[in-house]
Amino acid sequence: ALIPLALLVSAALVGLIVWLTRRLLTPRRALAAAIRRREFHVLYQPIMEIATGLCVGAEALLRWRRDDGTDVPPDVFIPLAEEYHLIEPLTDMMIGCVVADLADMLRRDHDVHVAINISAADMQSGRFLPVLTEALAAAGVAPRQVWLEATERGFIDAALARQTLERARAQGHLVAIDDFGTGYSSLSQLATLPLDGLKIDKSFVDAIGRDAATSVVVPHVIEIGHGLNLLIIAEGVETLAQEAYLRAAGVGFAQGWLYAKALTASEFLAFQETTNGQRVSPFLASLA
Ligand code: C2E
Ligand code: MG
Ligand code: MG
Ligand code: MG
Repeated sequence: ALIPLALLVSAALVGLIVWLTRRLLTPRRALAAAIRRREFHVLYQPIMEIATGLCVGAEALLRWRRDDGTDVPPDVFIPLAEEYHLIEPLTDMMIGCVVADLADMLRRDHDVHVAINISAADMQSGRFLPVLTEALAAAGVAPRQVWLEATERGFIDAALARQTLERARAQGHLVAIDDFGTGYSSLSQLATLPLDGLKIDKSFVDAIGRDAATSVVVPHVIEIGHGLNLLIIAEGVETLAQEAYLRAAGVGFAQGWLYAKALTASEFLAFQETTNGQRVSPFLASLA
């Protein structure tokens, strides 16, 4: 009679341990703990000027490396952070990392530009710009070194988004709409938004020369950008054929594995120095 009892007790114990582990390691707790433990780092993917082949800046891309060494992509953890109301600490930490990296890079190279993504939740809370502005001021970094990328999902509260973008531009940030064409904002609304640039989503770039149905849209996306007098940046450029298409279509800037993957801050700085040498981008010169 003792053996079944011992089995019962151990089964109950195992059950308790499994239940406790599940409770403690819910995705929300795991993410909150990761933010506290700063298990994140930022990588920088170069942005190229197509006409000159010069590097003009980089997009800051957040990475979550878990204890076990696995990387969780931002497409997974940013929606999670939004859902669990953890986007504020996550964004604050990201801004802190980027501004520290940028200040450090600017000590080594006089002209570095970094594009930061504003999540939809950041846009709606209205907190993003004040937090960034304060961090830049504290680090002594000029706002013009920072570009901002906002997605259409962030424009649900159109008045707030407009106010944030107008303030950002007034402070000297360049502002681009990200993943253009994948959201649901109306073109008439887009036309009146205070924007400097438009990023063509990777799905459109992928379609060039491949997917007939999607590629029909690409010249129109580019035409909209030109019509609205926006800088155009293509993302996810992987082949010379795609670059040739974009160059012929008058797209000014490109980003993708054809040039570089996302790099650490030091790797990015080395990439920019090697690529540019003493040459200065006419675009960057026009900003100064
Ligand atoms: P996105 O802004 O559209 O970023 C571009 C994504 O495309 C990046 O993925 C980049 O690594 C990837 N990519 C770039 N070139 C190529 C290429 O040639 N081939 C392929 N296959 N992929 C390429 P990543 O880093 O996984 O980022 C995914 C999205 O997560 C980004 O999309 C961005 O919206 C968001 N994200 C990343 N970091 C942050 C952040 O710090 N804050 C916020 N709010 N969002 C972020
Ligand atoms: Mg982006
Ligand atoms: Mg995209
Ligand atoms: Mg993008």
